[in-house]
Amino acid sequence: MKIICVGRNYVDHIKELSNEFPKEPVIFTKPETALLKDNAPFYYPDISNDIHHEVEIVIKIKKMGKYIEEKFARNYFDEIALGIDFTARDIQNNLKAKGLPWDLAKGFNDSAPISNFISVDKMDIHNLNFGLKVNDEQRQSGNTSHMIYSFEYIISFISRYFTLKTGDLIFTGTPAGVASVKVGDRLIGDIEGNVMFDFEIK
Ligand code: MG
Repeated sequence: MKIICVGRNYVDHIKELSNEFPKEPVIFTKPETALLKDNAPFYYPDISNDIHHEVEIVIKIKKMGKYIEEKFARNYFDEIALGIDFTARDIQNNLKAKGLPWDLAKGFNDSAPISNFISVDKMDIHNLNFGLKVNDEQRQSGNTSHMIYSFEYIISFISRYFTLKTGDLIFTGTPAGVASVKVGDRLIGDIEGNVMFDFEIK
């Protein structure tokens, strides 16, 4: 399986990092070894001194497809999870300044904690609240209605470049409020008030 991520998909987050508005989705990938499941602790790695949390809705692809038309894209997933796109902001800023790829800043071990998947059958996926608390402080709050590029558009766009296969995951972007994590922090994520993950930084 592969993990594909969308950058700069919520207006308020683009503004907080002073990024340009994308003319098309900003796409990057993480290796499978980035996944961190079952509320396992995240061990702060020595590669970075400034790892940021980015809470994101994650789509699980349920069948193979390429060149998927946007109007059919909804048929390619029926489960979502909540994840974190951990980002080594210090490394990313260095790479960005040199115009270099972001892989080291985004794809390091355990950089993609993820909850269990839930069915979207009874959900309005285009109006979903989600958020992240760090030590009981609400750090990020988002709603999928504020996405620049919809789930369907993202699937259609990505599938023109990468064949999507069953089990592939798509991280769909983060709302504002990204900030550093530190050893001892407890991260609790929710979708519509239901706790999806709860783990510690060690
Ligand atoms: Mg992100």
